[in-house]
Amino acid sequence: MNQSEALFAEAQKVMPGGVNSPVRAFQRVGGKPIFFKKGKGAYLYDEDDREFVDYVGSWGPMILGHAHPQVIASIKAAADNGLSFGAPTAIETELAKKICSILPSIEMIRMVNSGTEATMSAIRIARGFTGRDKIVKFEGCYHGHSDSLLVKAGSGALTLGEPDSLGVPSSFAEKTLTLEYNNPDQVREVFGKAGSEIAGIIVEPVAGNMSCIPPEAGFLECLREVCDEYGSVLIFDEVMTGFRVALGGAQGLFGIRPDLTTLGKVMGGGMPVGAFGGRRDIMQSVAPLGAVYQAGTLSGNPIAMTAGLETLKLIEAPGFFETITENTHGLMMSLQSLANSAGIPFTTNQVGGMFGFFFSSTERMTNFSQMMDSDTGAFVTFFNSMLEQGISLAPSPFESGFVSAAHGQTEFSKTEAAAKSAFDALQQGV
Ligand SMILES: *Cc1c(COP(=O)(O)O)cnc(C)c1O
Repeated sequence: MNQSEALFAEAQKVMPGGVNSPVRAFQRVGGKPIFFKKGKGAYLYDEDDREFVDYVGSWGPMILGHAHPQVIASIKAAADNGLSFGAPTAIETELAKKICSILPSIEMIRMVNSGTEATMSAIRIARGFTGRDKIVKFEGCYHGHSDSLLVKAGSGALTLGEPDSLGVPSSFAEKTLTLEYNNPDQVREVFGKAGSEIAGIIVEPVAGNMSCIPPEAGFLECLREVCDEYGSVLIFDEVMTGFRVALGGAQGLFGIRPDLTTLGKVMGGGMPVGAFGGRRDIMQSVAPLGAVYQAGTLSGNPIAMTAGLETLKLIEAPGFFETITENTHGLMMSLQSLANSAGIPFTTNQVGGMFGFFFSSTERMTNFSQMMDSDTGAFVTFFNSMLEQGISLAPSPFESGFVSAAHGQTEFSKTEAAAKSAFDALQQGV
């Protein structure tokens, strides 16, 4: 038994599945999770002292790579002044101003502790502001684990949603309509019938939780139009895409201004942080100014704010996103050509520093059902071969991958060499 296996056995005695978040348990890829003890730049080191090129990046936040010296130095200095006061600090306003300047749709913002908290609160505000209960979301998008959002589609677009987890009351799920991603006709149809009851739409403007699926031309535009027409609140869930697909997020990249935005991941630089913000008139409905309640003992925590601010300052550097976008694109091109040479049906998606790949002969992946039709068995074989060769990909075919600024030619060459042998193994049916 190696160290990871021993630690996993111990962990399972005291934590459900041995983990604190389900996808970490490796259930989708067989095998057992690896326990890491250290990260530096593009690399992770496990408890058995093996080195991995990391494309998970803590599921998105680590855009600068692990343990960036400036981020670490800033939080060490902040920690010397105390960890939490539960009272206002200057750094909260500093980070708030920085975010408002990078994302102009955010006129006011509230800091929270996770992406889940951000989306849950944004939904409550959309409901409080409009006085309506129904919300629209899209199949394959993930918005954290709050009750209203753990809902799957019923049998038709206009039928009631169904709980996607035990413990979610069906009376909650009934208020959530789940539509097909990249299908504007269906959005128009549903708003035509029920628009005046819909508080808002929540969408991942680039879907990152069904691997990576970009919006088709006209989709986000349609969401903006129907929200304007029916007085519903358009919420861009940019927990993953914010400061990841471009400095200005997906809203900057595609030029659509949402009413509310939710953030997390990169904005905390690896600390537990989230935020929601947007139109001033909507945000003024949040307590203590307004009657929509929302609070948090550790919200705006000075260490977390410091890690976030330092990260944003570093990724604002000119050329930062051009480089990461080019590098990620280059990596996808190499994987595609290696798969083609091996005769493996394969396709990739990429936006900025975020990518997805699919074992499928569908040329363009645009929605959840296409993604579900891809060959997940081939993914599992590929994943395990890559892992054995020291390349750490997300342990599920339904997650995005991430390239950091610390990934360079050395890491891409290692990845390509490993991928070549993984594709060859697949082709030989090993
Ligand atoms: C990760 C994620 C969330 C949830 O954030 P947590 O910090 O895990 O609660 C919400 N929305 C999107 C789009 C995400 O990718």
